Formats: sequence, structure tokens, C-alpha cells
Amino acid sequence: MAKTCQNCGATMEDSALYCVVCGAKYIDPNVNQNMNNMNNQNNFNNNMNNNMNYQNNFNNNMNNMNNNMNYQNYNQNTSNMNFNNQASYKSKVCAGLLGIFLGALGVHNFYLGYTGKGIAQLLISVLSLGFLSWVSGIWGFIEGIMILTGSINKDANGNPLSD
Ligand SMILES: [Zn+2]
Repeated sequence: MAKTCQNCGATMEDSALYCVVCGAKYIDPNVNQNMNNMNNQNNFNNNMNNNMNYQNNFNNNMNNMNNNMNYQNYNQNTSNMNFNNQASYKSKVCAGLLGIFLGALGVHNFYLGYTGKGIAQLLISVLSLGFLSWVSGIWGFIEGIMILTGSINKDANGNPLSD
């Protein structure tokens, strides 16, 4: 039984592998069908791979988002730690004793960052050549007691004093 060349349409011997007219290789329709099936399978596999890649990309994006959130949380935690470190920086006892013994010079207020009050107490003592130092001395002494008893419990930046 004869078969037809798929390239030029010439009649071929049933056993011929190549067309004698154009020289094209004869392709068995059954093999062709199998190749189509294989192509379909390949397409299916490619689609599966694409879907898996899409899923991987989605997972990667989610991981990136999680990483960003973790990074932001880390930054926030770092900020809180810095705030806590500053909060425990100034000593209540130290500030109180400075007020009691050196209050006339405003030293406790300079220590806590209340620069305006400190300058006022210092100027009262210095500009009066010491004659009015008892005024800023009593003022500073009272503030020293208030610091030790907790009536004044924050520095100028609003951070609580440490015990
Ligand atoms: Zn041919």
C-alpha cells in the first residue's frame, strides 16, 4: 500500500523512509500523534511550572513583606530601647543631693536639663555677689527635696528619673 509524501504530495513506497521526489523524511502519522501528545504533556508541564513559579513569586513577595515588617518592628524595638536607655539616664538621688548642696548655683537644674531655672538660680547668686544666694539656695534646697520625694520626677526631656 502506497503512502503520500507530506512535503510534496508525491506517492511513496510503503516501506520508503524518504521521498524520492523531494527527499523529505516521511513522518509516521502515529509517531506524529505521539509527538503531539508529548507536546501537550510538555505544555501542561510548562503551565504547571508557570503556576508553581507564580506561587513561588507570591510566596517570595509574602516573605519580603514579612521581612519588611520584621525590619520595621526591629526599628521600633530599637527606638523603644533607646528611649528606655535615656529614661534611666538621670539619677534621682544625684539630682536631689545637687539641689540640696549646690542649689544656689542651679547645678541640679543644669544636670536635669532645666537650663533656664539653673541660669536664674546661678545669676541670683553671682550678680548679687552672694548676698542673695540664700534665695536661690533655699529655692534649690526645696527642689532637691521635691526631687528626692518624687514631686519632681522627670528631667527636661520628660524622661522619668532612675532610683
Ligand atoms: Zn516529497
